[in-house]
Amino acid sequence: MTAAPQAPVEPMELFRTMLEDEFAAQTTRLTQLTVYARLPRHAGYDPEVLDGLITSARRRIADTAHALRRMSEGSYGVCATCDRPIPLGRLRIAPTALHCTRCGTEPRARSTARREYLGVTVTGAGRLLDPPRARRR
Ligand SMILES: [Zn+2]
Repeated sequence: MTAAPQAPVEPMELFRTMLEDEFAAQTTRLTQLTVYARLPRHAGYDPEVLDGLITSARRRIADTAHALRRMSEGSYGVCATCDRPIPLGRLRIAPTALHCTRCGTEPRARSTARREYLGVTVTGAGRLLDPPRARRR
């Protein structure tokens, strides 16, 4: 018997399928939304809502494409901060995740958090540890 026993689906293949499906779905969505945006009265959409939907579709396409590229480069599923593997459970929920659960937040959320953090340190003793010269540049 040479036939392989029922092999479990490789998690990476599963994520690749999820990402490719997401990419295709978001591309279709973006095309549709772009058509709506050109129609008179935006097909009944509020222009601001439509802009938001277009921006979010574009971002998801970019995130998905980025994840697929990491997959082809072999860096998919590895935390961009600590180089540890991202738990499969996390990837199942967020297949485009760049960071493990410990390093947590994605870049956008992280930059917001840092700004808030800096806002706090400016008024506190943290200023002494963080030369103002470096911050003003
Ligand atoms: Zn990490």
